[in-house]
Amino acid sequence: MMDIIDCDVLVVGGGPAGLTATALFAQEGFATVCIDKAEPVLDLDRSDADLRTTALLIPSIETLKRAQAWPQAGEKASDLAVMRMMDAGDGDGEPASVDFNADEIEQPVFGANIANTDLRAALLNRLGGLEHADLRAPAELTHLVFRDDAALATLSDGTRLRAKLVIGADGRNSVVRERLGIGVKRIDYPQRAMVFIVAHDRPHQNVSTEILRTGGPFTLVPYLDRQRPEGGVEHRSSVVWMESFVETDRLTAMDDAAFEAAVNERSQGVLGHLRLASRRASWPMVSMIADRWHAPRAALVAEAAHVVPPIGAQGLNMSLKDAETLLDLALEARTAGRDIGDEGLLSRYTRARWSDAAARVSATAALNQAAIGPFKPIRDLRRYGLQAIAGLKPLKQTAMRYGMGGAS
Ligand SMILES: Cc1cc2nc3c(=O)[nH]c(=O)nc-3n(C[C@H](O)[C@H](O)[C@H](O)COP(=O)(O)OP(=O)(O)OC[C@H]3O[C@@H](n4cnc5c(N)ncnc54)[C@H](O)[C@@H]3O)c2cc1C
Repeated sequence: MMDIIDCDVLVVGGGPAGLTATALFAQEGFATVCIDKAEPVLDLDRSDADLRTTALLIPSIETLKRAQAWPQAGEKASDLAVMRMMDAGDGDGEPASVDFNADEIEQPVFGANIANTDLRAALLNRLGGLEHADLRAPAELTHLVFRDDAALATLSDGTRLRAKLVIGADGRNSVVRERLGIGVKRIDYPQRAMVFIVAHDRPHQNVSTEILRTGGPFTLVPYLDRQRPEGGVEHRSSVVWMESFVETDRLTAMDDAAFEAAVNERSQGVLGHLRLASRRASWPMVSMIADRWHAPRAALVAEAAHVVPPIGAQGLNMSLKDAETLLDLALEARTAGRDIGDEGLLSRYTRARWSDAAARVSATAALNQAAIGPFKPIRDLRRYGLQAIAGLKPLKQTAMRYGMGGAS
């Protein structure tokens, strides 16, 4: 039988959240093992690559700076200076539009948009330089038990690990959460988000544009410019397009030319003609929150703890705050000579994060319902809501600060 590897922290899941948690803990000297059942895919052109990009808000960029992954990630990120929301109407009223400009809350930018593959690459590079980080992938968790003094894990290759604390960062179908017997509240929407990259001749000028319409929003997010092989620059944006199952089935069945025509019809020409510049992928839309985020020797972070529809760039931004909150509690415990897996300490993690996350899950669920709603009162609310926000500076500033992770 193999020897047992002792560590302070076992992070299950090497997505962007798990890798960030690993970097944060390892650089503080906690012996941290991170496992992922899949090998990381960093080439966006590979058929199994995560095609999503993430709009990281300023607090998340600060977390990545703390993890020392930002200098590299920042080189691949595009600034977000303005978030524009437009209600396209459903052909029965004047379109409404509101600009949220970062300088209205005395910030140069809201954040930056980066491909998930580039973010993972920057984090993996950071882990490579950390003495106390040990990444194992592919390696699946096959067995996990919690004892008073430690958690014992077995991996698919037979490796056995003993950890003081297990961080479940294993995504929305978390095995760690299941082993802990923690329930969830979950809404599955009859809706998917299609993601892809488009190229355009007109520059995006660091403006992210969300075009609301019944069925779901269509969002263009600034993405990296690319040199054309024949010379000159090609501007690009990443797109998140949410629609009903019926509509996404119809759009997914289209060939690229027909799909590109549908994209141009839906984008209303805000960036001129759009050319499809990547494969397409789609994600089912879910709102979910775990009933509690801790147990003795375990804590849930990121999508293992909460899932939101991609409205207002909340998902991963909430997740990075989870990882940092947990780290700060562990540092406090270490200074006080206490156990980092102590349930009393970890209950403070749930208390610190759960209410804020629950409010954001509810807010995004309500916004999503309003976006889906085909009924005229909901459409009117959507349109007049935008006009009201545009007209009331304090309300607008409050909404912007809250969206960036501040208190409501
Ligand atoms: C269309 C779309 C757009 C989005 N845009 C934004 C945005 O702009 N801004 C934002 O903040 N958020 C955004 N999000 C949310 C964000 O993408 C997710 O929150 C984030 O990618 C989830 O990261 P994660 O690390 O929690 O989970 P994942 O990326 O799912 O990682 C979980 C990892 O755990 C591994 N794993 C699972 N089970 C096991 C096991 N048993 N053993 C070992 N490993 C295991 C998996 O292989 C995986 O690598 C978006 C989401 C969608 C769907």
